[in-house]
Amino acid sequence: NSPLHELDPDVAAAVDAELHRQQSTLEMIASENFAPVAVMEAQGSVLTNKYAEGYPGRRYYGGCEHVDVVEQIAIDRIKALFGAEHANVQPHSGAQANAAAMFALLSPGDTILGLNLAHGGHLTHGMKINFSGKLYNVVAYHVDEQTNRVDMEEVERLAKEHRPKLIVAGWSAYPRQLDFAAFRRIADEVGAYLMVDMAHFAGLVAAGLHPNPVPHAHVVTTTTHKTLGGPRGGVILSTAELAKKINSAVFPGQQGGPLEHVIAAKAVSFKVAASEEFKDRQRRTLEGAKILAERLVQDDVTAEGVSVLSGGTDVHLVLVDLRHSELDGQQAEDRLHEVGITVNRNAIPNDPRPPMVTSGLRIGTPALATRGFQAEDFREVADVIAEALKPGYDAEALRARVTALAAKHPLYPGLK
Ligand code: PLP
Repeated sequence: NSPLHELDPDVAAAVDAELHRQQSTLEMIASENFAPVAVMEAQGSVLTNKYAEGYPGRRYYGGCEHVDVVEQIAIDRIKALFGAEHANVQPHSGAQANAAAMFALLSPGDTILGLNLAHGGHLTHGMKINFSGKLYNVVAYHVDEQTNRVDMEEVERLAKEHRPKLIVAGWSAYPRQLDFAAFRRIADEVGAYLMVDMAHFAGLVAAGLHPNPVPHAHVVTTTTHKTLGGPRGGVILSTAELAKKINSAVFPGQQGGPLEHVIAAKAVSFKVAASEEFKDRQRRTLEGAKILAERLVQDDVTAEGVSVLSGGTDVHLVLVDLRHSELDGQQAEDRLHEVGITVNRNAIPNDPRPPMVTSGLRIGTPALATRGFQAEDFREVADVIAEALKPGYDAEALRARVTALAAKHPLYPGLK
């Protein structure tokens, strides 16, 4: 028995059950992934015991010689990965990274321009009861009603009208690439900073399969646990000119002691992200999402009224449009859960249903690609999803197909 099982069987049992859930079902929440065992080993290490307020070489505590090494490795690796002049690897999460970046660039009451939440933006991009909506004057841009792509004409018009101090480009639920150069041109025209939140697509960027926002933006924030495949956490990249402002906004502006065990795990995941194996995984992630989108737009494959927002995808996720379907987002999420596929319902632009129900599903492929899924496996998953959304679906038969796929690509085979 492990020390955890000895000391706290209740927590151990829940952890074991979660491992079993991850191993036996198919994880298709677009913001999730499976961290390598080595990453979890670093995160579970003695570094959790260390206080290290400050930055490598400039700490407010003694005994930081080893965590200094770890944090510097993380900084150097992520700068190299994305070609950034400066990196701060201390934010505890993506939301903290965004809060610190805004804290560095803005004063309360300043105007920010971000993508509306229901159109794919994140809470931290200006949602009313988030810190961003409370501290700043928020103006939101949207996707075009016909194309479901970000309306750059609206971005330009709103920027000229409201003269924001910061424009935020980035998304949590959007199946296409953004035009970072166009965002920067607009930011320059109105004297705004450009911040790109690449939390969702950072792994694709690292693999060279998605445009890199770093050359265009003043600041780029990311999480480390989505397509990037590391531990839960955040990072801020910036120009050298903004380095001091960013660092002091994170500490002492927002946070106290950094989580050096998580920073160690981030460092390991950045090493992985520079590998050929990682590139192949991101390639399969994109291929899987394309296969899924192609399947779900075919009327003869899927149920009546089920379609795909913007008609396809260029990234790691597909937004299923259920506005014309009998099924709402909640029912569709429940159906897939019943057959062993985990996704989340998601409000889509101009959603007629309430936010707790929604008319959309967000389905992502990063976690399955990490499990080793190939094109043929993604075709099978797409067929299972299409079948599950039809009336008269056979839950038992579909569940058996899911179990077979899970068995074909074992997750964490060394863990029990
Ligand atoms: N930014 C974007 C675009 C996100 O999608 C998310 C998470 O969903 C975050 C930031 C926040 O990350 P975290 O959940 O680590 O705070």
